[in-house]
Amino acid sequence: MKLNTIPVFTVAVMLSRFVCGQEWKSGVEWQEPPVVTPGEQNNYAPSDAIILFDGTNLSEWDDGDTWLIEDGTAVPKETDILSKRHFGDIQLHVEWSTPVLIESEGQGRGNSGVFLMGLYEIQVLDSYQNLTYFDGQAGGIYKQTPPMVNAMRKPGQWNTYDIFFTTPEFRTNGDVKTSGYVTVIHNGVLVQNHFELLGPTEYTSAPHYETHADTGPIRLQFHGDAVRYRNIWVRELTPPLGRRVSAPYHVPKQVNVQPAATEDVEGDDKSVDESDDS
Ligand code: MG
Repeated sequence: MKLNTIPVFTVAVMLSRFVCGQEWKSGVEWQEPPVVTPGEQNNYAPSDAIILFDGTNLSEWDDGDTWLIEDGTAVPKETDILSKRHFGDIQLHVEWSTPVLIESEGQGRGNSGVFLMGLYEIQVLDSYQNLTYFDGQAGGIYKQTPPMVNAMRKPGQWNTYDIFFTTPEFRTNGDVKTSGYVTVIHNGVLVQNHFELLGPTEYTSAPHYETHADTGPIRLQFHGDAVRYRNIWVRELTPPLGRRVSAPYHVPKQVNVQPAATEDVEGDDKSVDESDDS
């Protein structure tokens, strides 16, 4: 009997290769990320946060005793306050509310501000149906960019800022190595997406970088308006840690050699034989 006359179903002992895709490995051995217990609600401080204001006092702040503590909120008075601790890369949560009684307009209505490293202001303003220059409204990086959208709540209601900040880096000669970056979520709405800061936010001059320390205080602005703050916490950010143990590589192909089942030879099962040797 010639080989080519053998019916396919009689090829019971043919070997087939089972070829898997090759998995890629980075060659980096990562440390297990630390466990963090989140707050009961997403605006509550997670277990690794530093509480900067819990409604009782401003002991974490220089000049904190100048502000008014009222009904679990902090109201700006007399001067800006600066966190006693200094921070670099951070996640910052701040809740704020502007006065119900509207006595002015534009920049004069519910003005305050959250300054990262004491230098980079995310504007706090009553921007609910209150026109001003757009890079000076709530969620804006003051005089550098407006927010992408206006996610403002009505006066008297509580707003949330979730801010993600990467510090700028400087070379020893004072040049900027990498700019600072900021992302802002206002009331759950992304309003700044990894915005490249042009330098400290200025009122009277164009922004430009000058060398500063790797860390700095958080500053809350006194601008004469009875803005209220509550529930302020911060997390210091550390990138995932890993070490390279090899160059990237592919895991060698897994090859199984096994008899092909008779009834599968003409079937649709792609696992039987995907080789090109037919
Ligand atoms: Mg301001």
